[in-house]
Amino acid sequence: MIYHSIDQLIGHTPLLDLPIDVPNSSRILAKLEMQNPGGSVKDRLGLEIIEEGIRQGRIIANHTHIIEPTAGNTGIGIALAAQKYHLPVTFVVPDKFSPEKQAIMKALGATIINTPSDAGMKGAAVKAKALAKQTPAAYVPMQFTNPVNPLTYERTLGPEIIADLAGQELTAFVAGAGTGGTFAGTARALRAAYPDLQAIAVEPEGSILNGGPAHQHRTEGIGVEMIPPFFKGLKINQVQTIADHDAFRQVRRAAAELGLLIGSSSGAALQASLNVARILPKHSTIVTIFPDGSDRYLGEGIYDKD
Ligand code: PMP
Repeated sequence: MIYHSIDQLIGHTPLLDLPIDVPNSSRILAKLEMQNPGGSVKDRLGLEIIEEGIRQGRIIANHTHIIEPTAGNTGIGIALAAQKYHLPVTFVVPDKFSPEKQAIMKALGATIINTPSDAGMKGAAVKAKALAKQTPAAYVPMQFTNPVNPLTYERTLGPEIIADLAGQELTAFVAGAGTGGTFAGTARALRAAYPDLQAIAVEPEGSILNGGPAHQHRTEGIGVEMIPPFFKGLKINQVQTIADHDAFRQVRRAAAELGLLIGSSSGAALQASLNVARILPKHSTIVTIFPDGSDRYLGEGIYDKD
């Protein structure tokens, strides 16, 4: 097949049955989202946010200035889609986030403004809104509250997984939560097809879903400072809180044993899936998401020992 534009390469990622020992003779199937053209699950959202904005008349090609607070991957997705419609983009990024992601966003044409990491994503959001007030024809998609975020995954990732399974049973869905869009949208689509599905959210230590106090963590892309609005009305069977050292141990192990180059949120998802397999019935099928790859974290020493 010959493709004609980058956005045609988004989605339809492989679902890999991980060749590892899983407790209770269960299996873990991982959706390899690093295979999207911008390298993450958030390419799907970038395209939808821009095209939905155009459909709603909020974005005009060649004209509207997109401003968004982002940890990086959503920025890369938006920057890719913005190129197609010739839209200027500015991203507000807390300075702790991976320099590789920021370099990729710049290469795609975006302007980056850094905010202090201590102010978290909340600080980046406040700055983005202030910038938008001073910028003519600005539009802030605001991935943290925009319903297009979970809808993207309900329309694309969930149905792809259902098609990949081709009628086979599914016991549990395990995925990390940053904005919560990937988890909420995919869980909604999967539960419509599998009403008894266990939906298990993953967060790093330092995130508040299981009630712990908020603090910094090394696992990048997941973790929340408040309960995502997308979780309203969604049944979450369990939240797995994964320590950084466990997430990074799985990252190293995936490379060394499986030849899989995954980022730390994928490492956390793998550790959580293994934990869940221990408490689920024998021969369960667990689907998880590997949101991005390790290449954009090499400068942070993702493969270094703790
Ligand atoms: N992992 C990585 C690497 C990410 O960049 C993101 C997006 N922040 C996520 C997981 C979580 O996705 P979501 O925002 O949809 O919860």
